[in-house]
Amino acid sequence: MVGAQARPCRSSRLAGPRGARFACGCRPGCGPVRYFFSFRNDLMPPLRSYFQPDRLAISFELFPPKTPKGEENMYEHVSRLMAYAPDFVTCTYGAGGSTRDKTLEIVDRVKRRFGLPVASHLTCVGSSQDELRSYLTRALGQGVDYIVALRGDPPQGESNFRPTPGGLSYANELVSLIRGEFPDFGILVAGYPEMHREAPSRTADLTNLQRKVSAGADVVVTQLFYDNADFFHFRDDCQKLGIHCPIVPGLLPILSLQQIERITSLCGSQLPERLLNRLREHDSPEWHFQVGVEWAIEQCRDLIDAGVPGLHFYVLNQSPATLQILESLGVAEQRKENRK
Ligand SMILES: Cc1cc2nc3c(=O)[nH]c(=O)nc-3n(C[C@H](O)[C@H](O)[C@H](O)COP(=O)(O)OP(=O)(O)OC[C@H]3O[C@@H](n4cnc5c(N)ncnc54)[C@H](O)[C@@H]3O)c2cc1C
Repeated sequence: MVGAQARPCRSSRLAGPRGARFACGCRPGCGPVRYFFSFRNDLMPPLRSYFQPDRLAISFELFPPKTPKGEENMYEHVSRLMAYAPDFVTCTYGAGGSTRDKTLEIVDRVKRRFGLPVASHLTCVGSSQDELRSYLTRALGQGVDYIVALRGDPPQGESNFRPTPGGLSYANELVSLIRGEFPDFGILVAGYPEMHREAPSRTADLTNLQRKVSAGADVVVTQLFYDNADFFHFRDDCQKLGIHCPIVPGLLPILSLQQIERITSLCGSQLPERLLNRLREHDSPEWHFQVGVEWAIEQCRDLIDAGVPGLHFYVLNQSPATLQILESLGVAEQRKENRK
């Protein structure tokens, strides 16, 4: 059974119009839609429909927890986050495909329990093309709506990525495979405001991004960053290159200094001096959390003012920081209102 219920649009960018193809007459620029009882991806809105002028899309990224307790906690946090009506939720794909089954299980459960579109991340690491096809076939069968198409990182201790025999070398090839053989999936790809750490130059990295978009990616989600100037510079360069699809900032609210230093050392993002100095004022988790939330609010306000099409939160399977941020941005009330 399928149902969709439209509500009139509110004028704010923070309100939630959704996509395009509903018998109720809803269309881009119209009101949000409530879904129920259907988990077939052909009934979920096309990915691009969330990213309309005068609208701010919200999405959350989860990762597969290692323990049943961690999983239980994650669903509790997801459930709190749902009060703020995200447009879709994504789940990462562990290094070397180690979480393949878990990733699919999580997106499936999130979709069934909360009735919203989901995206599975997928990397080329450790899979031949046939194995990638087989994952995509399973994902399609389970009602996954969108794929975050990635190359993935080289295994720990190796600096160069080597494709699996019969596999793919770069994310643009994965995008081509999906677009050619699984055209129903919406496709997101990664972008790097501070440049991908293996790229020989900024220009080469941007040219690669252009390849991914030309191959059929719908949306770019960025690596985490803490200086908005990096994002704006990246966005300007993308526009100059003719990359006109939505470019969505990826935001990781800092939860602890130790954790963020570890994460940024792995992904190559920089922590601005002003942020580091503030974090170092007190050696306490509460202080780091508070500074992280305040920084993220400041970042988000500035990004919204600059017209970003959406915000993608790396929530790390937690909810308190993201909830505080959305609340203080005024997203919370307006999106809750639209869900009634
Ligand atoms: C939003 C987001 C989500 C992520 N989710 C996951 C996840 O779930 N699981 C996971 O393991 N990792 C994930 N990552 C990390 C990602 O896998 C790594 O950053 C990885 O090193 C690069 O993946 P990519 O898809 O950007 O690769 P690509 O776009 O293929 O780029 C990789 C490098 O190769 C270069 N390059 C690309 N194409 C060419 C070409 N044709 N010729 C020469 N050079 C080229 C690029 O400039 C870049 O330096 C995520 C990253 C982001 C930003």
